[in-house]
Amino acid sequence: MLDTDEAEHLLRGAPDAPFWEALAKDELRVPRCAACAGWVWPARPACPTCTSTTFDWTEVTPEGTVYSWTRVWYPFVAVRVDELPYVVLVVELPHAGRVRILGTLHGDEAGLAIGAPVNGIVAAPSAATYGLPALQWLLAEAGG
Ligand SMILES: [Zn+2]
Repeated sequence: MLDTDEAEHLLRGAPDAPFWEALAKDELRVPRCAACAGWVWPARPACPTCTSTTFDWTEVTPEGTVYSWTRVWYPFVAVRVDELPYVVLVVELPHAGRVRILGTLHGDEAGLAIGAPVNGIVAAPSAATYGLPALQWLLAEAGG
């Protein structure tokens, strides 16, 4: 379970609640349709391929490649003003049907490029993440 009432409130009934609960246990889990075996991300109430509503939340090795990225300069989230600029990545997960998942870059930007290999880590919940754990990515060749 997650630590804060705010996090619990955010996730109540959300299709991606198991994702966040797994992250809190330092696991990356992605829903896989129990009927057609398709990987589904973002999580949703029904499979977009076969409409099944049963998913296996499958643990996935947190490795991927950079599909796209951007450097954020605008203070979208007031509590992150002191972190500006930061890099947001769209990471393709080869161990989960190549679904693409968002996260922030942790550490050095050296080697940041489309296709660069990255390794995921879980950052502890904070005010900047509304009390939720955060999936972050390190460039694999920068020492991650
Ligand atoms: Zn399906």
